[in-house]
Amino acid sequence: MLRRRLDPPRDIFPINDWALAVVGYRREVLQYTGQAETMFALANGFLGMRGTHEEDHPVQEDGTFLNGFYEIRPIVYGEHAYGFPKVGQTMLNCPNGKIIKLYVDDQPFDVANSEVLEYYRGLDLREGVLRREVTFETATGKRVRVTSVRLVSLAQRNLAAIRYEVTVENADADVIVSSELINRQPLPVETSDPRLGQGFVGRVLHPTGHRAGDLRAILSFCTKGSGLALGCGMDHQIDTACECATTLSCEDDIATLVVKVAARAGEPFRLSKFLSYHYAAGVEPREIRARTAWTLDRAVEEGFERVHERHKTLVQNFWERADVEVEAGRNPEKQQILRWNLFQLLQASERAEGCGIGARGLTGRTYEGHYFWDIEIYVLPFLIYTQPRMARSLLKHRYDHLDKARARARELSHPGATFPWRTINGEEASAYYAAGTAQYHINADIMYALRKYVEVSGDEEFLHRYGAEMLVETARFWLDLGGFTERNGRQFRINGVTGPDEYTAIVNNNYFTNVMARENLSYAASTVRMLAEQHPETLRALVRRTGVTMDEVEAWEEAVALMYLPYDEQLGIFPQDDSFLDKEVWDFANTPEDHYPLLLHYHPLNLYRHQVIKQADTILALFLLGDQYTIEEKKRNFDYYDPLTTHDSSLSVCIQSIVAAEIGYMEKAREYFNFAAVMDLADVGGNMMHGAHIASIGGTWLALAYGFGGMRDHGGHISFRPRLPDDWRRASFRLTVRDSFFEVEIRPDRTTYTLHRGPGLIFAHEGEPVELRPDASVVSRPTSTAVPEEVAAEFDATA
Ligand code: BGC
Repeated sequence: MLRRRLDPPRDIFPINDWALAVVGYRREVLQYTGQAETMFALANGFLGMRGTHEEDHPVQEDGTFLNGFYEIRPIVYGEHAYGFPKVGQTMLNCPNGKIIKLYVDDQPFDVANSEVLEYYRGLDLREGVLRREVTFETATGKRVRVTSVRLVSLAQRNLAAIRYEVTVENADADVIVSSELINRQPLPVETSDPRLGQGFVGRVLHPTGHRAGDLRAILSFCTKGSGLALGCGMDHQIDTACECATTLSCEDDIATLVVKVAARAGEPFRLSKFLSYHYAAGVEPREIRARTAWTLDRAVEEGFERVHERHKTLVQNFWERADVEVEAGRNPEKQQILRWNLFQLLQASERAEGCGIGARGLTGRTYEGHYFWDIEIYVLPFLIYTQPRMARSLLKHRYDHLDKARARARELSHPGATFPWRTINGEEASAYYAAGTAQYHINADIMYALRKYVEVSGDEEFLHRYGAEMLVETARFWLDLGGFTERNGRQFRINGVTGPDEYTAIVNNNYFTNVMARENLSYAASTVRMLAEQHPETLRALVRRTGVTMDEVEAWEEAVALMYLPYDEQLGIFPQDDSFLDKEVWDFANTPEDHYPLLLHYHPLNLYRHQVIKQADTILALFLLGDQYTIEEKKRNFDYYDPLTTHDSSLSVCIQSIVAAEIGYMEKAREYFNFAAVMDLADVGGNMMHGAHIASIGGTWLALAYGFGGMRDHGGHISFRPRLPDDWRRASFRLTVRDSFFEVEIRPDRTTYTLHRGPGLIFAHEGEPVELRPDASVVSRPTSTAVPEEVAAEFDATA
């Protein structure tokens, strides 16, 4: 049930294309404390900090996360069975270094309990910083101005920095500034929402020493189960004409720098705080503290301005290559919303090298920081077209876990490799196999993303060195998971799986899974044949690593040719699986609005025995493999499945929007796009305070580029069929294909393609070839207003 749960008054959150901010203080701002912590979270793909206030109050759910830094915990089952994962993985909350407390004449300051006169707090999207500017008055009438600028550096992945400035404007005062770094023991997670996952009780980070000197303190810890060493440290620079004295203290779990300032009226006191976080496996405490210190050395040497400058340059580079612009008639705030979304993609990915991307990036602890298929299907397309280096890194990260995927396949009695449904360290961490391990489609999803990456970037070398091996192992797995059955002719069927729709589990021949597995098998076969013909040396290396034979390739090709794909003659649709259409349709009319998401109100078995869909499933296949279907087929399936889809997963509406746009249901496409775009900022899922929905955010970009932009890239052939919603005046997005960087600008009557850099490329616009070259770098074509021919007769714009 889609609805906006958060409609922050626009006089508090004004529309601004390059900032998302709270302007002017009212007590009701406090009711958004949890959401604002997500909204204002900062991250660089490696280090993430929730957007809490420097004073550490008011606070709802603080968090400092390092991508891939986790502890293991036993998974306790009521009833155990063979092959269930025994050990879970949970991303840890690291010591909080953001804290800077302020006392004026001994009166503590925080925005909830002070007389606030002026207030601004917001994300500056152009610079990638969180700014706060507050003026308050003390009980004795002293006006104090406090400003801060916070960043998590894109240039130095282990570094965060805060510039904090206090000025007592109208009087002298005794000011104390206390800068802290605190490791807090986790509190038990008290919730019935399974998505939040398990917490720890008691100590998880075990102190291994600390060092302090001058204005610097460093703490080190280790985790017992995952065997990781953590170093975190803070250093400072003070800049003021006021007299001041500092005291530094440091214990196992807490370090504090207290600065006593004899503040003179109008004279600013400026503190630059640098934070460094490192972790590594198998490293001694001394070493991890040294690494932490080196990051601080460099930051202090550069100073805050330079650190800020370098960070800003990278943020600007991001906008240069990835910005999206829209003029969306009825929704003047759309530009701001889209930029905030894109900024989340930057924050989730830019420095994630060597890691994956968690379902909430580094903005919250939902799903324990686990990596899902969200990466490959929802986020990678954006990265492939805007930051191919990171797309490669994420695929390489999967490759790095190939041996664990092999071991898991062996545990499940299969040859080849099967990737975990949810994981941090490459091992399966999903305790509910029906909606976890059984989602074998993740293997095909990763291979689908691999293919898109190779075709769009032209990085054949990646395919040779890493991709081919993953293809061989996943193809082997599929061939064994399914089987040839003689009933109804010899067909290849895949039984006992779960598709993307988690309200239907353990079924035979999930359409999405079968069709994606077929792609996986076919790509594996064609890759091995291509290597045999064109790169025999590479093939020999592949044979040494995998033992692959041409007999196997033939068997994969047979499975491709004989893959069973359910089809219902009467309805003319692809049944989601063999039994889906035999089930009763869920009683939507009598389901109270507050019972959504259904997963929080009904036993899975209730859901499993009905036709009720959590998220795009068959419809997703019709998008991903869209060149294999007619518009008419897409329309019939959409008409059938759309009313059954609850969109209880945030991964759904973006996909429905794309297919709706393709079949000419523009009003529906617009409505779904709007929900995808505000998934977080209007808190559609009601859980934004626990982190930003990164897959939905990636999906929003997909809905713009593939939906309204009508972009398709099957087989690496790029094409566009742009269609704007009625009231949109303009939309533009930027793409990098191989070495060419270009922009697509869609207006209701014309679409203009501009080559900004590179040798140029050929693509199709409305089926006609278009060539961009350095000497013909701008090409315009009419934007068609026609609805797709095949559905024109039945098209109903209000459907
Ligand atoms: C969805 C999955 C998704 C996961 C993490 C679940 O609610 O059903 O498809 O991978 O969330 O985002």
